[in-house]
Amino acid sequence: MTPPYRIAVVGCAGRMGRMNLAAIHAAEGCVIAGGTDQPGSAAVGSDIGLLIGGKTLGVTVGDDPVALFAEADAVIDFTTPAASRRHAELAAQAEVVYVVGTTGLSDQDQVFIDKAAIQTVVVQAANMSLGVNLLQVVTEQVARALDADYDIEIVEMHHRHKVDAPSGTALMLGEAAAKGRGVKLADVARKSREGQVGARPRGEIGFATLRGGDVPGEHSVIFATEGERVVLSHKAGTREIFAKGAVKAAVWGRGKPAGLYSMRDVLGLTD
Ligand code: NAD
Repeated sequence: MTPPYRIAVVGCAGRMGRMNLAAIHAAEGCVIAGGTDQPGSAAVGSDIGLLIGGKTLGVTVGDDPVALFAEADAVIDFTTPAASRRHAELAAQAEVVYVVGTTGLSDQDQVFIDKAAIQTVVVQAANMSLGVNLLQVVTEQVARALDADYDIEIVEMHHRHKVDAPSGTALMLGEAAAKGRGVKLADVARKSREGQVGARPRGEIGFATLRGGDVPGEHSVIFATEGERVVLSHKAGTREIFAKGAVKAAVWGRGKPAGLYSMRDVLGLTD
């Protein structure tokens, strides 16, 4: 009999952390190898089963990531850019499958993820849901089919606690649109507008950010020209979709060669 696949969660007391624990608990052939949160978090020392609203599991939330990475076959990380830098280093050392969903990473933060992928399997995606990854594929195709007479605008809305803007998903969709159009996002992106900004330059890819309430994530990619608009949208009704995707990625990564993979690889959506 194959031993259960041991998946751990860093930042396990967070909104996504708890969802990730519950998704591992529900997944066949997988067990929760443990969880950490940052030192001083009220969750440290509590039973993980109780944290996800179930029975006690006899595994408590820790604050030592080194011990956690040594224990696990795979680790899921939805935390902060600073924490993910450290977690990426530990994943490389322990050679565990590392699934990272943290957004708002700077280019310097990304270097840590890229370095880890030389040593171990890393699956990174700003959005782990099937729907958004499909939207990414379709966005690229539509952007390829329509010329720059179609203005591309990306609108997103998230809950009031979100700390980065535009969302990682909005940027991911922007990258897809830019790729379809054969340009670099950095050359054409307008991440916000305020005041006397002047007329819209042809070829710009614009972003608009809304924040409020408990919205898990809504994204629309708009292609607007004189006389018509094509609107591609995704609405997340629950964070469960991201957690299920993260566990799917962790399981998919088992036994794969070291490298940096995306959710499109996991879902078989790459061309
Ligand atoms: P959150 O603030 O609820 O959770 C983050 C958790 O990380 C907290 O419990 C915090 O204490 C913990 N943490 C911070 N530093 C730590 C450290 N050094 N060690 C261990 N734990 C640490 O935030 P959230 O809403 O769960 O989102 C987390 C991240 O995931 C954000 O970047 C968000 O944008 C991203 N996210 C990604 C996806 C996706 O599909 N990729 C989906 C939703 C959210």
